[in-house]
Amino acid sequence: MALHLDTPLIESLPLGRASGREVWLKLDALQPAGSFKIRGIGLACETQHARGARRFVSSSGGNAGLAVAYAGRRLGVPVTVVMPQSATERAQALLRQEGAEVRVHGASWQEAHALAQSLTGADEALIHPFDDPLLWQGHATLVDEAVRAGQGFDAVLLSVGGGGLLCGVAEGLRRHGLDHVPIIAVETEGAASLRAAIQAGGPVELPRIDSIAVSLGAKRVCDRAWQWTREREVRSVVLPDARALAACERFLDDHRILVEPACGASLAPVYDAAPALEGCRRLLVVVCGGVTATLAQMRAWAGR
Ligand SMILES: *Cc1c(COP(=O)(O)O)cnc(C)c1O
Repeated sequence: MALHLDTPLIESLPLGRASGREVWLKLDALQPAGSFKIRGIGLACETQHARGARRFVSSSGGNAGLAVAYAGRRLGVPVTVVMPQSATERAQALLRQEGAEVRVHGASWQEAHALAQSLTGADEALIHPFDDPLLWQGHATLVDEAVRAGQGFDAVLLSVGGGGLLCGVAEGLRRHGLDHVPIIAVETEGAASLRAAIQAGGPVELPRIDSIAVSLGAKRVCDRAWQWTREREVRSVVLPDARALAACERFLDDHRILVEPACGASLAPVYDAAPALEGCRRLLVVVCGGVTATLAQMRAWAGR
């Protein structure tokens, strides 16, 4: 049995009213480990487990690392997570609660990832947070479920960090003959690596990440994410942190679910009835979730 859950798909009247459209929410905030990441990471871990991997190694101090830790606990495989110094105490505590060994190394994800690579032995598996076809295949189950539910949609909103979710959703749409359905790909200012790739004509590395939406903080999107923007319609939206944060607060009031700013980013264009929604009547919003935000943290950001 898969490690992820078939999540609820509910209509949102508050977001519908705000945007003047029909809005459906795919509630992946309710996945075990708190985000959509367990879909792809669960599949990658199960596959590596079947191939005989004796340990999983992850380089993410956020939702990806937590999903690996969860998968390892469920499969009975030990997990080591190398996280950058920027990761929070809370993230460390959550990983240890899942039984993972935590090592802190490097100023950014790049350095943590390099150490994770060097630590991974021959019979161990390094689980990438976004750039792996197995991961995309797992993320695509989100579209399978939404299509099976049968009420239809003519656009999908999602957030983009390294682009794994985008790749998975695009793959899922393709296998259901839905290449014509636009993907509205949302990033925050300071973490807009997909927008940079589109403008440069290929993935480029941002000099730095500067956004409270830490889960979107990949300096460079994976090649496949950029290729999708050439193969199908992907509308790039970049918005300020303050819009993402405001969307999180409204969403907490409207649906009683606390999500990270990384997730608030894809709710914001709906609350704001953004021009990118033009021509779309029935929106499917991927409520990607995230566990790194607390109410206290949200209040601190709002006070800034
Ligand atoms: C990882 C993550 C993202 C971004 O996903 P990518 O596959 O890196 O593009 C967005 N939101 C949340 C909550 C995440 O954990």
